[in-house]
Amino acid sequence: MSRRQFLKASAGAGVGLGGALALGVNLRPIAAHAQRLKVAGAKEYPSVCPYCAVGCGTLISVRDGKVINIEGNPDSPINRGTLCPKGAASFQLAVNPLRATKALHRRPGAAEWEEIELGRAMDMVAEKVKAVRDATWVETVKVKQADGTEADKRASHSLGVFSLGGATMDNEWNYVHLKLLRGLGFPAIENQARI
Ligand code: SF4
Repeated sequence: MSRRQFLKASAGAGVGLGGALALGVNLRPIAAHAQRLKVAGAKEYPSVCPYCAVGCGTLISVRDGKVINIEGNPDSPINRGTLCPKGAASFQLAVNPLRATKALHRRPGAAEWEEIELGRAMDMVAEKVKAVRDATWVETVKVKQADGTEADKRASHSLGVFSLGGATMDNEWNYVHLKLLRGLGFPAIENQARI
């Protein structure tokens, strides 16, 4: 039965997909056909999900120079075509019309965001980080010794900055991010990417 015949028959009989399943109709060929139509004429590139150290294999379909689909690679011995929800959403990392492309700033007390130049935004972040780091820097902490006395131990850190990773931070970004924050002496880091 072709997809068209199936849909026509289903509509005529008032049978939805749930009904089709209940009747024991195998929908897999239809789903596979729809998937083939989706990526028809596209070139497939094997790749690796960028999000965690599991390293699931992906297939990236590109048509006319644009990424049109990303799915699990059935030839990968790691994931055999499957992806977790995060990996399955990696298409949105490449193609996302909702992504903010301008730096925005909301002044203290303001209700509205205003666009600012990216260089200025980065300078503002750097100035804030330095100010907080300077104000909260801890050179040494008191540590209790085995004999009950206290001794100074070098800490050289600041707990004034906490970094919370986002779902679209990939492995390489997280590597650089850790290097930067630890280099600055901020140990409170949560990557959210399981590295
Ligand atoms: S984020 Fe999910 S899909 Fe990506 S490598 Fe890790 S387990 Fe696999």
